[in-house]
Amino acid sequence: MLITNAVLPDDREVDVRIEDGRIAAVEPSLDGTADIDADGKRLFPGAIDVHVHFRQPGFSHKETWETGSKSAAAGGVTTVVDQPNTDPATTDGEGFDRKAELAAASYVDYGINGGVTADWSPEELFERPLFALGEVFLADSTGEMGIDADLFADAVERAGEHDTTVTVHAEDATLFDESVKDMPAVGAGTDANADLWSAFRTPEAEEAAVERAIEVAGDTGTDVHIAHTSTPEGIEAAVDGGATCEVTTHHLFLSRDDLDDLGTHGRMNPPLRDEERRRDVYEAVADGTVDMIATDHAPHTLDEKDAGIWDAPSGVPGVETMLPLLLEEARQDRFSYERVRDLIATTPAETFGLARKGRIKEGYDADLVLFDPTEATEIDAEALHTKCQWTPFAGLPGVFPELTMVRGEVVYQDGEFGDAVGRNVREHGGQ
Ligand SMILES: [Zn+2]
Repeated sequence: MLITNAVLPDDREVDVRIEDGRIAAVEPSLDGTADIDADGKRLFPGAIDVHVHFRQPGFSHKETWETGSKSAAAGGVTTVVDQPNTDPATTDGEGFDRKAELAAASYVDYGINGGVTADWSPEELFERPLFALGEVFLADSTGEMGIDADLFADAVERAGEHDTTVTVHAEDATLFDESVKDMPAVGAGTDANADLWSAFRTPEAEEAAVERAIEVAGDTGTDVHIAHTSTPEGIEAAVDGGATCEVTTHHLFLSRDDLDDLGTHGRMNPPLRDEERRRDVYEAVADGTVDMIATDHAPHTLDEKDAGIWDAPSGVPGVETMLPLLLEEARQDRFSYERVRDLIATTPAETFGLARKGRIKEGYDADLVLFDPTEATEIDAEALHTKCQWTPFAGLPGVFPELTMVRGEVVYQDGEFGDAVGRNVREHGGQ
């Protein structure tokens, strides 16, 4: 297959030849007839979202591997990493195998994270093609999958023995502001006073938990990755401690100011922060301090979300809107295209050892996204493919892909889907 006249993130105009699912050549000009004439449009490496919750097994009314991965493909995401809080949870061999069966329906490549709970089975998990341990919740008192420091230390040690990264959900529940719970909780859904959630789950809880996770991991040498850092303090603590970190699109583009409109639809963990912190987080993403963007794509139905602030489930969808929102930043000259590429492809691939992903270069997987950099459209929930059929980003402009390819197979083009070709990235050469 030959793609001609494509503009790469570094502004080079090239032809790209694809053979057997890999990039065979990237040159200013290649011989042959074009299968796709990019006609000066941008060609990007497919995005890698290291933090999604595709909900299967157990919660297929919210999302399935089919709907979640279609949403990914339509948003230019060619690799996703699924988190373990499904039912059964991915904490032992049986839980892993059940998820692996369902994940075979994926349109994009994927990794499966193993979870850590008091009754997890590390022996069984590490026998399987595991992506990482994830989102391990170091929390002494609360959190469904929360674990204490001893168990966390044990998990970090075992992960190190298997050269596996530990991805941490960093919020110290002992530092939440319990007095907020005495305030009157009015309304439900978009009418709810959702700012209470942000007041309750304090920025201090994040910073302290990041520091603690890094301290417990100590000098084991195990790689620690902090999921969804939402404050400048949390980012600084991660960077200072030698951990990598991700920022979600909702913490990048939304703040407490948006909760007037979003209500409980904007409830997630960690919560939306004040506008000043959001701006500082944005700066840390723009200047390269933050390693990568991920989505924490965590769909719930609108029925479920339309509850009071203390009852609504936490989480928002985002896998389909991540790249479009970032490409709009590039279109507006606020980020360079190279920065976007690094945040969504090159750095996640390097951080998690995906040796053939994240670049448009000879020998790499032909995971590619083609888009017209001059065309932004308004984000509209009805046009998205997530099963939950809503988005917290409605009305914002996004630059959506025209075509998405996974290892040389077109999985999405102009609203139509190809075949479900996704496979486990750890089952193929470990990469
Ligand atoms: Zn998550």
